[in-house]
Amino acid sequence: MIYKSLFHWGARLRNPSLLPQLKALITSQNWSRTQLEDFQQERLRELLIWAQRAPYYQKLFTDLQLDPERKWDPGDFQKLPILDKATLLDQNEAIHTQYPWPKLFFCETSGSTGQVLTFRRNERWDSFNRASIWRGYQWHGVQPWDRNLYFWGYNFGSRKRLKTRILDAAQNRFRLFDYRPETLRAVLPRLKQVVYIHGYSSMIYELARLVLDQVGPLELPKLKMIKGTSEKIFPHYQETIRQAFGRNMISEYGAAESGIIAFECASGNMHLNMEGCLVEEVDHEILVTNLLSHSFPIIRYRLGDTIRLGDPKYTCPCGLAHPILEEVTGRIGKNLIGKTGHYPSLTLYYIFKNLFFEKGLKLNYQAHQYQKGQLVYRLTNALSPDLERQIRLESGKYFGVDMDLVFEQVETLQTYQGKLKDFISHIEA
Ligand SMILES: [Zn+2]
Repeated sequence: MIYKSLFHWGARLRNPSLLPQLKALITSQNWSRTQLEDFQQERLRELLIWAQRAPYYQKLFTDLQLDPERKWDPGDFQKLPILDKATLLDQNEAIHTQYPWPKLFFCETSGSTGQVLTFRRNERWDSFNRASIWRGYQWHGVQPWDRNLYFWGYNFGSRKRLKTRILDAAQNRFRLFDYRPETLRAVLPRLKQVVYIHGYSSMIYELARLVLDQVGPLELPKLKMIKGTSEKIFPHYQETIRQAFGRNMISEYGAAESGIIAFECASGNMHLNMEGCLVEEVDHEILVTNLLSHSFPIIRYRLGDTIRLGDPKYTCPCGLAHPILEEVTGRIGKNLIGKTGHYPSLTLYYIFKNLFFEKGLKLNYQAHQYQKGQLVYRLTNALSPDLERQIRLESGKYFGVDMDLVFEQVETLQTYQGKLKDFISHIEA
């Protein structure tokens, strides 16, 4: 098959260690929890030894009197300070390890704050990340070269669009550039050939809505996986996607700095990628150490998400011994500011989650704050006095009378670099 050959050819050229690392991951996925933990500690030690080559960590180890070459007590690791994005930006060069890497990949990522973080990834790191995704695909019977529909940014100029189309063709994928009904009708025949769909969950949801609206539920005999990334998957997304395509969306969780942290298995559980990262849960917040980040060590990094880990004694029917990530509840963003109190932006997630589970309300919302004590709810749903009343009632459980609510019906919700955010604060500080 041509796409398989193309994939292997490209991989050998760009990521020579991809295949060996995939093989290793396929082996280690059969290990026991203890074997995995031992392996994780070994990789952690290897990372700390590499980190000595970075001036930032060298100073840190000296200050804390920690010697990576010696065996550490479990508490030693926790002595290392929590790393945040501001430090990655300020100390950028000092965090890079001083080593003549034969091959480096330039990586650029931006957060919601708009600051662009750049760093260099060594080949093994980059390839491991790809191997982790590939392994996840295999849990669903999918190979990366299978026919696929891809959703990522689509805000290109025509020149860039052509280049994108050529690259897409080589990878046996196509993407939608807009959601017009005529575009949908044009791609329908191709959709029937698709083995997997992947991209931003909000965009996959939009497509599902359009499909239901225009043609009704689809029969997609070849479809094996729908994968959403980079955003929370709201409960009402799943229902719509299941109706439109006949299966649930699975999630992949990770970031450029951390690599793949978790991937959902065929039994519907998100398993931590133990071979590649070490996850700590501190005050419900995730701290992640990227075990492969030898060229730019990411150690105890505050990703900014709140998470809930599963019961450590639970065993997943799929057979993997990797611990389960129960829920990623979302980004810890700016606070909602009431007349007297402050509320985490996560509050919105709970309000709308309750409205869905308790009242069956599928609301596509985004909250904006322009002034203290007032929240503007924008919805793409048709507004009615009854709907407003229900949202007020649920919001009141959290805010009491501390927050005035304003409702606006809109066509589309504002995205930030293709990502849909549920809260945007326009208040400084
Ligand atoms: Zn599982």
